[in-house]
Amino acid sequence: MREELLHLIFPNVCVVCHSLLLPAEAYCCHRCIAEFDAFKSPWAAEEVLRHTIQSRFGGTLHFEHGWCRYLFHKHSSLQELLHAMKYEGLFDLATTFGRQLGEWMLSGDDALQVEVIVPVPLHRLKKIERSFNQAEKIAEGIGQSLHLPVRSELLARKRYTASQTGLSAAMRKKNLAGAFQASKAIAGRHVLLVDDVVTTGATLAAAAEAVRRGGAASLSVAAIALAAKE
Ligand SMILES: [Zn+2]
Repeated sequence: MREELLHLIFPNVCVVCHSLLLPAEAYCCHRCIAEFDAFKSPWAAEEVLRHTIQSRFGGTLHFEHGWCRYLFHKHSSLQELLHAMKYEGLFDLATTFGRQLGEWMLSGDDALQVEVIVPVPLHRLKKIERSFNQAEKIAEGIGQSLHLPVRSELLARKRYTASQTGLSAAMRKKNLAGAFQASKAIAGRHVLLVDDVVTTGATLAAAAEAVRRGGAASLSVAAIALAAKE
């Protein structure tokens, strides 16, 4: 049964382990969340994010600050949760994770420099196919914590790119070149680009390039998770 139908009938069951949720829990139980591989601090996460993107992508993505809450492992409970969020249309779950990420970002002062939040867009066709852009919902959650606007319209996906799954870093880079276009209204702002999971950094880098071309003053990035080296 599709997860959203299951949730209509059993709204108080964990999406990962299917055990009954406590009144204070939403979508995912505390035991499953405790299994996620969380970074110790925003600064530790930023260092790993920088280093990982540089080694996987070649260091062409420069960002002011980078936030990332979890390391993502294959076949983990976090993977199940993110899968449910992405493909089963659990909007509120994506927003909740965004809000938590935003609160975590506020544990340092760096997040206060951000002026505008922009999610990495899905192509219009893909959005219909998947029904919602999870990066946008995560961005909305971050926006609620940071009290900042989410401006999805400032960055558009110009063309439909083939799925990135199974492509090498070089192929991803080629697949995404020129895929995004930023609005002129981005000029002079400190932009926070938001995505769900960073794999090679190719998507973020392509989006970042468009943001820079649009004349943004600074660029920072945030994602729920960074894919661990398997
Ligand atoms: Zn659970």
